[in-house]
Amino acid sequence: MGWYSYDEGRERQAELQRVIARKRASGEVFEALELPKAKGKLVRTFWAKAWCSHLESYQDYENRLPRGRSYLRRGGVYNLLIEDGLLTAQVAGSALYEVSVKIQPLAKEDWVQIQAGCAGQVSSLLDLLAGKLGEGVLKVVSNPESGLFPRPGEIRFSCSCPDWADMCKHVASVLYGVAVKFDSDPALFFRLRGVDPSELLAGGAQATLSGLSALEAGLPGEDLSALFGIELSEEVPAPSISSKEPGPGA
Ligand SMILES: [Zn+2]
Repeated sequence: MGWYSYDEGRERQAELQRVIARKRASGEVFEALELPKAKGKLVRTFWAKAWCSHLESYQDYENRLPRGRSYLRRGGVYNLLIEDGLLTAQVAGSALYEVSVKIQPLAKEDWVQIQAGCAGQVSSLLDLLAGKLGEGVLKVVSNPESGLFPRPGEIRFSCSCPDWADMCKHVASVLYGVAVKFDSDPALFFRLRGVDPSELLAGGAQATLSGLSALEAGLPGEDLSALFGIELSEEVPAPSISSKEPGPGA
């Protein structure tokens, strides 16, 4: 990692923009992460804010995360992808860096515990995704030890920059960039943790699925997916049968 004068820095930025333009011209997808237009808060919704405050609550991270926030503001995060347990992105710094963050999917037994703790208290997927939750549910999902958010030991990151081992600003900017994505589509948070949010609904997955088909019958498909902010064309996972299995103590 070198030190650059203002002019050298500008030159490198311009060179980077040329590299990006060339990639785009050759047909490569290079999508900049869209940030909220208004100045002020980076994120506004429940899951996005909860994600940020959870990560900021760890001493290991609190010194390193803030620079990711300002880095993200400068608009250098591209092609941010959220999959089950994996984030990938390209971040423009003094070069174009490849960032990936692996987040251990929520353990099955933890998910079963969370489901039990929320049983009968979450009435709709819309409320769940909007974070309109009762105090009991909030306590369960945001418990730092047993809730929905990953602990530092479950997060592994890498970056192609020379400075990555110490959580570089590129990794930090991706961790905040993810929250920006959660703002527009909170279902992505559950996707990242590898769980189906409808399994938290009162009545369990079965009722949810039949509720969905009833809704589907009455609404045009595209409206429904907009309503839930999820991709309905994706295969709906089979209802969990875990509630019928005897618990570990049985
Ligand atoms: Zn880096």
